[in-house]
Amino acid sequence: MSRAVVALGANLGDRGSTLRAAAEAIAALPGVRPVASSREVESVAVTLDGPDTSKPRYRNAVVVVDTELEPQELLDALHGIEDDHGRTRQERWGDRTLDLDLVAYDDRSIDTATLTVPHPRAGERAFVLAPWLDADPDAVLPGAGPVADLLAAVGDDTERVDEPRLFGEPTCSSRPTTAPDGRTGAAS
Ligand code: ADP
Ligand code: MG
Repeated sequence: MSRAVVALGANLGDRGSTLRAAAEAIAALPGVRPVASSREVESVAVTLDGPDTSKPRYRNAVVVVDTELEPQELLDALHGIEDDHGRTRQERWGDRTLDLDLVAYDDRSIDTATLTVPHPRAGERAFVLAPWLDADPDAVLPGAGPVADLLAAVGDDTERVDEPRLFGEPTCSSRPTTAPDGRTGAAS
């Protein structure tokens, strides 16, 4: 079983509903188990030319899952969910109803023609780091360091959306804790 971090983004359509439906679809994938999720954040669209306030704003979130899928299998499944939400692939970093990126997969480094993990721009994107930290206060970006430090370095320009977490879980830690009687449970 491996632990994977997935970043969700949308700037077209009913963004909040799309992110929620996508998180549910991820959790329902065969070989995937939900672990933790963030609340949503909102931020200005970033294009290849930089921030663009004339574009619809983004909603972003992060989910943490345990999975038996290999990284490429997981990415293929995420692309299937993007397609189910009417994603078309035209312009790189263009407007989209749904973008699902594999941010990290255990502490593995992968670099193939179709998959780079950890995601090469995750460490400089507040819209990935802020919700990831929200989902997992102890998160570490493999090869780069604690997400809290990375977010402090880039500056958090995202706005928290006042909605429940995507998976609706009551606590905000992905780290299991062992109780004195040996049972495991979520830390608060
Ligand atoms: P972007 O997210 O950069 O705007 P796309 O979502 O259209 O662009 O993805 C472009 C390609 O990036 C995908 O076809 C995918 O194969 C590749 N890719 C490489 N590494 C990753 C990753 N870690 N997560 C998601 N896609 C990735
Ligand atoms: Mg993508």
